[in-house]
Amino acid sequence: MTVNRSPPRYSLVLPIYNEEQVLPRLIERISSLIGRLDGETEAIFVDDGSVDGSVEYLQQVVAAEPRFRLIEFSRNFGHQVAITAGMDAAAGDAVIVMDADLQDPPEVVLDLVAKWKEGFEIVYARRVKREGESWFKVFTASLFYRLLEQMTSVDIPRDVGDFRLVGRKALETFKRMPEHDRFVRGMFGWMGFKQTAVPFERHARTLGQTKYPFWKMMHLAVHGIVSFSEKPLRLALWGGLAISALAGAFGAYAIFAWFFETGIIAGWTSTVVIVSLLCGINLFMTGVVGLYVGSIHAEVKRRPLYVIDRLTGFDEAMRAASGERRRSFHTPRSGVPANGRTLRQL
Ligand code: UDP
Ligand code: MG
Repeated sequence: MTVNRSPPRYSLVLPIYNEEQVLPRLIERISSLIGRLDGETEAIFVDDGSVDGSVEYLQQVVAAEPRFRLIEFSRNFGHQVAITAGMDAAAGDAVIVMDADLQDPPEVVLDLVAKWKEGFEIVYARRVKREGESWFKVFTASLFYRLLEQMTSVDIPRDVGDFRLVGRKALETFKRMPEHDRFVRGMFGWMGFKQTAVPFERHARTLGQTKYPFWKMMHLAVHGIVSFSEKPLRLALWGGLAISALAGAFGAYAIFAWFFETGIIAGWTSTVVIVSLLCGINLFMTGVVGLYVGSIHAEVKRRPLYVIDRLTGFDEAMRAASGERRRSFHTPRSGVPANGRTLRQL
């Protein structure tokens, strides 16, 4: 049980990338949600380098509403990083991450909160129905979750996206995970704690378009596997060994045939087939190793995960102490831009 004498405080984190069309409706729904929550609530919008009118719109909204805050990235850093920045800045006892496109209905947050109050540290929203998404997306997504399940030893819940509530303990743990290869849902799966899921129906996107085209989804899937499983490496090793053994046996046979059999010149086809097969496998394995090397390369550079261009709506105390556990929602807002600052230096 969460023992909280004062009413709980909530932070909503919303990554935004070119969502100009959805924003007015989103603000409306978020405001009504805030009215229904039983504690003080802040909404943190993270602009992930939008190039439409999203930022200008958000700046206006944030200036007028003290519970809204805005983090503007210096460029597009990607959905998973945007979520991270929002969570880094969140001051609530419970932090809720949700998509900005209203595919994650804000009302479901009330169910997530109810579960959190029952004592669950991490509450996922699980899609029981996906409307308006192509069969191809649903099929590839389900294939990916099954593949991931086979490949990792970490419990990564199936059919769960990034719509979730996390408590303070899980959040502090998350902040101590500096990895660049960020597959956020896997990271929360890894850390343990009492976790549960709340079912919801995912409706079609009514406004704007998906910001996850096929290649971006593939990218996320590959990162998910590379950051949570060494199986492809092991597979490369054993697969490579098996193929080498086969090639060795075939070579031995070729020598044997050269000595003892006649009319064996007709080897061109098999040579070409085998050479290309081996080259193909070789390249594939090198590629797999390359993925991991690339991932190591990104980590050793130790660059900050993201660069913030401007913060609006956060108070001074909060900005000064972005690593601190507790931050007040009440200190006066300053509105002074913190140009070029990173919220968290890694
Ligand atoms: N998003 C982001 N950066 C990106 C791509 C997407 O912040 O590079 C945000 C986007 O604005 C939305 C959320 O991430 O709030 C999920 O994106 P989308 O709805 O396009 O993904 P889908 O639901 O189609 O998988
Ligand atoms: Mg969406």
